[in-house]
Amino acid sequence: MSEIRQDVTTNEWVIIATERAKRPHDFKKEAKALPPEFVEKCPFCPGHEDQTPPEVLAYRKDGRPNGPGWWVRVIPNKFAALVPGEVERSIEDGFFRKMSGVGRHEVLIESPKHNLYFPFIEDHQAEEIMLALRERYLALQQDPHAKVVIIFKNHGAAAGTSLEHPHWQMVATPIVPQSLRRRLAAATRYFDDNGGCVLCDMVQMERAAKKRVVEETPEHLVIHPFASRSPFETWILPKHDQASFGQVSLDEAKALGRILRRTLAKIFAILGNPDYNLVMHTAPFQDEAKGVFHWYLRVIPRVSTMAGFEIGSGIFINTALPEETAPFMREISI
Ligand SMILES: [Zn+2]
Repeated sequence: MSEIRQDVTTNEWVIIATERAKRPHDFKKEAKALPPEFVEKCPFCPGHEDQTPPEVLAYRKDGRPNGPGWWVRVIPNKFAALVPGEVERSIEDGFFRKMSGVGRHEVLIESPKHNLYFPFIEDHQAEEIMLALRERYLALQQDPHAKVVIIFKNHGAAAGTSLEHPHWQMVATPIVPQSLRRRLAAATRYFDDNGGCVLCDMVQMERAAKKRVVEETPEHLVIHPFASRSPFETWILPKHDQASFGQVSLDEAKALGRILRRTLAKIFAILGNPDYNLVMHTAPFQDEAKGVFHWYLRVIPRVSTMAGFEIGSGIFINTALPEETAPFMREISI
């Protein structure tokens, strides 16, 4: 019989379909061929800096702004979902609430190399990427209209990427998204019921249980969550109880880069070169000081597709057991 499991961080449910569960090694696909290191028509490749909006941050030793020589570069999104401006709220037809599309939408280009995927970069470069994300997070936090920063990365067509060159996106929104409100509400309820942080307690529990742990470092615990929504969904939990990514120290940001690189290298070793999404759940600015939320990073390999049942119910059907995939990933050598 399958199991219906509840995610303690959202109160949402998933179905773990043990009957049709595949073994961990059955998910491997043949890795797609790598693209070339430089692509003439790619706006993110070096030498094409004039094809993007002017940079808001770049790490480079020599050279002029908006020229080559950088190793990490951040630009406003040319096709931004939200742009700077004034917030105007209104009601349409006396019924529908709406507001102007104010916010910020930035793109972080991971490296000058078009084909340098995260698992293959040097630790130093992984650290620099996290330092740049942190720097821009703190800058976006200064925007008077921003309520929260959504940080994510799409890799591959199934994950929704439109540009192949490895990059991250950051969107500062003037509203707190409902999915984040749900996480905050679940964390608050947990805090009220148990007098502690749900993620801190999860770290303690998973360390003791061991069966869903992929890796542990002084700063982080990597697990396959009890209520995994899809095979090999992986969470990187910071042990330091901090509400937001903006609160991490420089050393903690660097450590996150290293553990993320190792985690993605393991996922690549197991699944080939899978399409995946990376999402960071970090507190709305106004809730940073409350001591309830605890930020974390999720890696979601796109090995299954969302269909009618998921859209109709919000319940995902997972065909792998986290208790089987986590030890498998723990043992894989990279
Ligand atoms: Zn490129």
